[in-house]
Amino acid sequence: MADPAIIVVGGGLTGAATALALAEADWQVTLVESGSRPQTVAPDQAPLIRVSTLNPAVRNMMERLGAWQLLPEARVGKVDQMRVWERSGSELVFSAEDAGLPRLGNVVENETLRAALWQRLTEFPNVDLRTGVAVRRVDDGDRRLRVTLENGDRFHCALLLAADGARSPIRESAGIECSTWDYGQNGLVMTVETGSSHENTAWQRFLPDGPLAFLPLPGNRCSIVWSLPTAEAEDGLDQSAEELQEALKTAFEGRLGDVRIVSERGAFPLLRRSAERFVSGRVVLLGDAAHTVHPLAGQGANLGLLDAAALAEVLERGRQRGLQPDHPTPLRQFERWRRSDVEIMAESLHQLWFLYRWRVPPFPAARQFGTRLINRNRWLRRRLIDHASGFGGRVPRLAQPQV
Ligand SMILES: Cc1cc2nc3c(=O)[nH]c(=O)nc-3n(C[C@H](O)[C@H](O)[C@H](O)COP(=O)(O)OP(=O)(O)OC[C@H]3O[C@@H](n4cnc5c(N)ncnc54)[C@H](O)[C@@H]3O)c2cc1C
Repeated sequence: MADPAIIVVGGGLTGAATALALAEADWQVTLVESGSRPQTVAPDQAPLIRVSTLNPAVRNMMERLGAWQLLPEARVGKVDQMRVWERSGSELVFSAEDAGLPRLGNVVENETLRAALWQRLTEFPNVDLRTGVAVRRVDDGDRRLRVTLENGDRFHCALLLAADGARSPIRESAGIECSTWDYGQNGLVMTVETGSSHENTAWQRFLPDGPLAFLPLPGNRCSIVWSLPTAEAEDGLDQSAEELQEALKTAFEGRLGDVRIVSERGAFPLLRRSAERFVSGRVVLLGDAAHTVHPLAGQGANLGLLDAAALAEVLERGRQRGLQPDHPTPLRQFERWRRSDVEIMAESLHQLWFLYRWRVPPFPAARQFGTRLINRNRWLRRRLIDHASGFGGRVPRLAQPQV
């Protein structure tokens, strides 16, 4: 196969979506993934614990890329409402109806979506998929980059897209620094069955140590994300199922009745990270390689997927003006566009996290006042939902509502 114009490193959600968006736009793409190719998830397979709440903008994008249509319905949860509270008697309620949207979001296992994206990628003759091999080194030539894989294969390309995750080896080798805020917490995740119906609602309670979310999956299942101090989250991995179920029920004020754990458990460190540059010469960072945010509003994967849509768009506009993919003009546009959207989101989540941690007066009263204000003001609710739905800033064409 001829040298690709663009190499994407990392075939997680961000990298796979990026490669697919570029393939659709007729670029010659090579996708390099050090792990194995994702396997299609059967409708009745045991639940997978890494899930993402996809916002409506990302759902539009997934539909346009033909990946949404490949998701088994039995693996996709629906979010029609969101309820957020700290103590009983005062809660924030957001609904799809408030925002004039058919749905607030969908809860999907990362691997299920990833498998659908990869399945679509196999349909493109202009995509070369390399799995089980990592990038060994990248050398900058005069006009192109030279990329060498661990197995000795070599390519020249105009542009290298690093979607190789939060610890991004490509970011490191490009010498791009990162600012990091460690929340000192882990997200304890698992799937549970609840005694009563979740009513297609994403439930989140802010506890003194951090938020506990019950995200709706098909049937009476919920995906749990519980932000806890690192040691406590690790204890949660070893606790007996009975003890942890009881702890979950109590922390959740029993709002969905009894809780039964039906999956394995995992704990993931919670960090806010931002690369000092998203673009360095012919290297572009996307997804977790460029930024990570606190999962309290389920936005991390959404941000990475919108990076993919935005990059495909600026490269296409550049091409229409006769520019090569490594031309600085479209890459600068990408950096400006995505940095402002990502920073606004990361900072809002950071402030929200702090706001709910203050237990001393006047903070609890201020939160109650804020809750009442938002509940009474439909316009304000709509603005907040727009932001979380991916429609707050400039929306990439791929993610715009279908007309
Ligand atoms: C507890 C928790 C809950 C979350 N909940 C949500 C949510 O509800 N909604 C949401 O939007 N987001 C959520 N997120 C965030 C979301 O999971 C991530 O933002 C997203 O999965 C990142 O995808 P990515 O493709 O950028 O990175 P990754 O998933 O890390 O993918 C990187 C890929 O690169 C590959 N790779 C690495 N190095 C190399 C190399 N040298 N060569 C080749 N390949 C390489 C890896 O094998 C991997 O496949 C959550 C995060 C946490 C921790």
